[in-house]
Amino acid sequence: MTSTETDSTSPSKPCLPIVENFSRRAAVKAGFATLGAGAFVAAISPLRQAAKNTSAAEFMQTHYTELSPEQKADVIARLEAETKEKYGADVTIGDDRPIPGTKFVYAINLSVCNGNGKCVEACHKENNHDRDTNQSYIRVIEMPKGTMDMEQGSTTYTGVVPKDDKFYLPVQCQQCDEPPCVDVCPVKATWKEEDGIVVVDYNWCIGCRYCEAACPYHARRFNWKKPEVPAAEVNPDQSYLSNRIRPVGVVEKCTYCLHRTRRGKLPACLEACPTGARVFGNILDKDSNIRWILENKRVYILKEELGTKPAFFYYFD
Ligand code: SF4
Ligand code: SF4
Repeated sequence: MTSTETDSTSPSKPCLPIVENFSRRAAVKAGFATLGAGAFVAAISPLRQAAKNTSAAEFMQTHYTELSPEQKADVIARLEAETKEKYGADVTIGDDRPIPGTKFVYAINLSVCNGNGKCVEACHKENNHDRDTNQSYIRVIEMPKGTMDMEQGSTTYTGVVPKDDKFYLPVQCQQCDEPPCVDVCPVKATWKEEDGIVVVDYNWCIGCRYCEAACPYHARRFNWKKPEVPAAEVNPDQSYLSNRIRPVGVVEKCTYCLHRTRRGKLPACLEACPTGARVFGNILDKDSNIRWILENKRVYILKEELGTKPAFFYYFD
């Protein structure tokens, strides 16, 4: 079985300069004064198509962290109605917040992973990814033995796995403690939450793609087109910051399935793994399996030299 190629390769480069103290609200105000809503969105987005799909209510929505409970309820009701209208699916969108005293960490046993790609498929379905492009937040890289340099591997491998001279390195968002993707966002549409998960407000993102370029793990995806998911395949258990169907023209990413993990469940990729290679949990829980692994195994992080401090570890038996 093969891994699914999930890179969103780009026909264009990020188009916004980073401006100190730039706020989307200020830009909206200025943009409205001169252009009007539709023209302004078209001017700042790499995808003019995004303007066509931006309702006035969505465009005037404030940042997630500034929404009152009543405003959040209105936004979520609107998004649920839009999903019904555009996709024909009845969905429930939650507003799942971090659980106090939780810091989520992931680890993968590379001695066990055999490159079957079931995690890639599970992410695709769980997170309502576009069916056409076979999108997923996970890439499984077929690696030559003897290196942890992910740039030396292949995400387009074919044939029977595992191959004797290879090992398999699943890579998704590392939920970095020093995330360069967050630092470069000119409108603060992406941030790190208390439980360590890096999120995006998909209604605040302007699609400049700076974060995608800044991520050393190729963990972010840009929606070049409206995601297509048949009604019967839409996962109805959704969350605002997680697996609700993201609009065209924004950057999206893995959230450790926060719509599941903040409700006490495991990530979909872990549940789908047939080899038991994946371990997930709360590092602050002294009795957790993940804590035991970090204390007892020789663990690796990817691209340590960059100082991103991933909350994602790899180890061999
Ligand atoms: S892996 Fe990439 S997207 Fe995830 S937190 Fe780190 S820099 Fe950001
Ligand atoms: S989240 Fe990424 S694409 Fe969206 S505005 Fe911020 S840097 Fe740009």
